[in-house]
Amino acid sequence: MARYTDANCRLCRREGQKLFLKGERCYSPKCALERRAFPPGQNGQGRRSKTSEYGLQLREKQKTKRFYGLQETQFRNLFDKAARKQGITGENLLILLETRLDNVVFRLGFASSRKEARQLVTHGHFQVNGKKVNIPSYEVKAGDVITVKEKSQSSPKFKEVKDMTITVPSWMTVDVQKLEGKVVSIPTREEIDTPIAEHLIVELYSK
Ligand code: SF4
Repeated sequence: MARYTDANCRLCRREGQKLFLKGERCYSPKCALERRAFPPGQNGQGRRSKTSEYGLQLREKQKTKRFYGLQETQFRNLFDKAARKQGITGENLLILLETRLDNVVFRLGFASSRKEARQLVTHGHFQVNGKKVNIPSYEVKAGDVITVKEKSQSSPKFKEVKDMTITVPSWMTVDVQKLEGKVVSIPTREEIDTPIAEHLIVELYSK
């Protein structure tokens, strides 16, 4: 299945929003959205027709999927899981997205992007509660402790992390010297700062 390996910035320009797909570059003036804040393509700077309700719902789904780096099938499966849970489906979906191990590793500051986090997890650099977990979609629970595997701690990548000042969301804590993070609680909707109108995704999939 196709995965976007380049032109990630085009995706941000398409959505008109930073999706933070390229690590440090996203926080620098080199960010393509800072320099070219209009959609890609020939008509990017021209007049655009009014977006339909369906178009808005579709864009929100695409944006969310790209933000978290999921493929269509993975995203749909996660939505179905959210719908089966008690509570509000849209909120459940965001919580499931946030509690994926790759997202948690990114939020803890152990990777500069979700894409890098996914690679680091797949390569087996992390443990959850002392056991190696190399599945990016692994769903963390309240109380879980995520650590960089001892053997990996001396790698230049993680030595660099130790010198960083990292701010994490309120639902987790981090000890950069120990390269250890904890999921204190499962996030509430208010604690998730991702700019997503999840009701549009629910409406799209409810058609
Ligand atoms: Fe998006 Fe990052 Fe590219 Fe900016 S630098 S457009 S945030 S991927």
